[in-house]
Amino acid sequence: MLDDATDTETGAEPASEGTGGREPAWDGFVSLISRTFGIHRLRPLQEEAMRANLAGRDLVLVLPTGGGKSLCYQAPALYRAGLTVVVSPLISLMKDQVDGLLQNGVRAAMLASVQDSGERQDVHRALEAGELDLLFVAPERLMMDGFFERLLALGLSGIAVDEAHCISHWGHDFRPEYRQIGDLKRRAPHVPIHAFTATATERVCADVAQLLSMDDPVVLIGHCDRPNLTYRVQPRRELTRQVLEVIERHPGRAGIVYCISRREVERIAQELRTAGVKSSAYHAGLGGHVRKRVQDDFLNEEIDVVVATVAFGMGIDRTDVRFVIHAAMPKGVEQYSQETGRAGRDGLPSECVLFHSGTDYFSWKSMLERGHEEARAEGKATSQDVLDATIERLGQMMNYTSRFVCRHKQLVEYFGQTWTAKTGGCGACDVCLGEIRAIEDSLVTAQKILSAVVRCDQRYGSAHVTAVLRGADTAAIRRAGHQELTTYGILKNASMAAVRGWIDQLVGQEHLRVSGDRYPILYLSQSGVEVMRGERDVTLFAVPERKGAKKRGRTTAHEDLGEDVDEQLFESLRELRRELARERGVPPYLIFNDKTLAGLAAAKPKTPAEFLAMRGVGEKKAADLGPAFLERIANHRSEPGSV
Ligand code: ADP
Ligand code: ZN
Repeated sequence: MLDDATDTETGAEPASEGTGGREPAWDGFVSLISRTFGIHRLRPLQEEAMRANLAGRDLVLVLPTGGGKSLCYQAPALYRAGLTVVVSPLISLMKDQVDGLLQNGVRAAMLASVQDSGERQDVHRALEAGELDLLFVAPERLMMDGFFERLLALGLSGIAVDEAHCISHWGHDFRPEYRQIGDLKRRAPHVPIHAFTATATERVCADVAQLLSMDDPVVLIGHCDRPNLTYRVQPRRELTRQVLEVIERHPGRAGIVYCISRREVERIAQELRTAGVKSSAYHAGLGGHVRKRVQDDFLNEEIDVVVATVAFGMGIDRTDVRFVIHAAMPKGVEQYSQETGRAGRDGLPSECVLFHSGTDYFSWKSMLERGHEEARAEGKATSQDVLDATIERLGQMMNYTSRFVCRHKQLVEYFGQTWTAKTGGCGACDVCLGEIRAIEDSLVTAQKILSAVVRCDQRYGSAHVTAVLRGADTAAIRRAGHQELTTYGILKNASMAAVRGWIDQLVGQEHLRVSGDRYPILYLSQSGVEVMRGERDVTLFAVPERKGAKKRGRTTAHEDLGEDVDEQLFESLRELRRELARERGVPPYLIFNDKTLAGLAAAKPKTPAEFLAMRGVGEKKAADLGPAFLERIANHRSEPGSV
């Protein structure tokens, strides 16, 4: 469980909970973590995971993004004799990890196709010389001719599989090349294997353990809630303006906007740039070098916002992403969790906003079905079961958007965990914050809408039905004679956005359905008929209006960072971090994350010892970076006007 109370400590005593008596070996291990990573307290499952790891057990660990999984294979790898190999799906992910480890003085390297032969030779030489504790590789490289056997000969003592859900067909991110590593355990039964993932249902966990041929594994599933994320779901109307509203709440901070199509990515990125936001587009249709540049610019804080298809993200470890926006509903709750999970990895408050329309579900569904048909026509292996499971997940995602139940509760329960409700709600979702209100005459309004659909012979889409309900004068209405309908103009006092929003809600609650090949038409489901007859109750929610809508102001650094933080000093330390990162050729967040900077800007350490005691400061960084940071803090202290 993410327990923030336990990790805001800055005290230098290496403490760990639940160990009772003294255990020299364990104490030595904990002190190694403290000296290397500046982490002075373990989170609950980290201790259990590392104990299992050190005891040579196989392990599956599920912790949310930012939960601290990496430490659970990194630290034991340092402590244990021999080499730990880490299987990771993406080169950028490995590179970040290795760069971060090197900053902390850890002997780590990676082998990847992007390296030139000289670099690769250096790594091989270091391997042979026993100079590495951690080696990161892609699955296909690990399986290359005889490589694994060579690692065994060199004293391989552990295998860590990152993003382990990729091995399962039932996960949302299946990668065929992960299947190859399924027989590692059979080839080296004595080497413990450890799997790590942020998003896994019980089924996926069991699948992972089985596919990796684990031997009586320790399975640890952390609480998947991310208390520092605030979730909101809103109907999509003027998308760019809505996106800008979110950005305005986090000026100058990092964010990601996910869109479904490349065209939309390009359009929104352009419009954001016009509005003065430092942003770039990212999708699979761009050349490799363009994508690389965008990714680097984002990591190096040259741009604040990336507008992207889902192709962007897996390798993005920037920890200070303050918002993740979805311009449309994603394909499933797992994807949604993983994508929103990229916000607030540093544990500071961050926001996730999903803009959706009732038609998103149907666009996805027909896209998936088409894909399935095409694959079948081409004779590719594709199973009806997998398609059905995918569509079921899509339906569950739609439920998330249309049910006005605490978002944290919905997400936690989706992953099969229990949600303990707090009085007054979670305090971090639109439902609990009271941003969503039911309208008073829900049933009557729903009946008006449903009967308009029926009067239009269930042959029109939501734009036309809205126009009829609002008494608009359009060519289509005149052509069909719909101005004569009894339902014409019965919602003339409601705005277009409101009526369309209610239609979306009725679609979301499955009282209305959408079908049609060329354009979507609305018709009633059985439950819709019952609502229309007044045999079933329904709740509709007020759609926030453009004017007078409750507008949250800009989030101040204080709100994000905590009360004691000297905001000016924080900004100045961010600047210093950028400078140092540039000098060293690493992304700024690998220097220190925002949480550590916030800690420095609150505690304002004066001496090297005080600096070393800060959370996130290990011995190597204290030596390398301490003087520059202490000087900046001292200068700030002596500036007139500062406290
Ligand atoms: P995950 O891999 O689970 O997404 P990471 O391993 O990247 O998460 O950890 C997220 C952040 O939390 C990192 O900055 C890491 O240094 C920090 N962290 C990990 N464990 C602890 C801890 N026990 N106390 C404080 N910070 C921690
Ligand atoms: Zn809530």
